[in-house]
Amino acid sequence: MSYLFTPPAVVSVPVVGRAERFPVHRVYCVGRNYEDHAKEMGFTGREPPFFFLKPADTVVVVNTGETGEVPYPTLTKNFHHEIELVAAIGTGGRNIAAADAMKHVFGYAVGLDMTRRDLQGDMKKQGRPWCIGKAFDHSSPIGPITPAADAGDVLNAAISLQVNGQPRQGSFVHKLIWNIAETIEHLSAAWELQPGDLIYTGTPEGVGAVVSGDLMVGSVAGLGELRVKVS
Ligand code: MN
Repeated sequence: MSYLFTPPAVVSVPVVGRAERFPVHRVYCVGRNYEDHAKEMGFTGREPPFFFLKPADTVVVVNTGETGEVPYPTLTKNFHHEIELVAAIGTGGRNIAAADAMKHVFGYAVGLDMTRRDLQGDMKKQGRPWCIGKAFDHSSPIGPITPAADAGDVLNAAISLQVNGQPRQGSFVHKLIWNIAETIEHLSAAWELQPGDLIYTGTPEGVGAVVSGDLMVGSVAGLGELRVKVS
């Protein structure tokens, strides 16, 4: 087999305690999945879960102990952080029942669903796709994946983000409107999940803007810190 040009490298995330890396297939994101974040975005109540995707090559891998870098993106004047728990799918499937869903999860990581909020807002108003607000280059920083067995009580863990040492976001994973099992049930009814899929499960309240030079430090208890600088 020969190609016209060199195919892109496989995007992969390191796994805590393992030499093998986790190759990324797709990046799914859940919208408005914490009540107080839905409210700050102008929505109330429990709506059916909804999803958007980002290309795998928007993932920015940040190794343990390192500070990743995300360039301030083009076109925006309102570049927002969204700290999220990421579920990494190890076993695929379609029409997975919530009761069976957790065995499809290989592990968990801390992620940032970076957002060009002004562009996303424009697209919402016009009823157009969110891609330009969400699925841009370098928009999906992630730390190492901790295997589920080593991740502790991650479904009840504290989740938080600081910017330049000041608290911005803080909540608990148990406040997810649609928990991870329910999310997998809904996602796998719409797409066949594959090993290597990442699910950014939604962000709690407190989203806000960052500018060049800001240092974001996110964490989910038990999974360590994700440090990312805006360059
Ligand atoms: Mn998000």
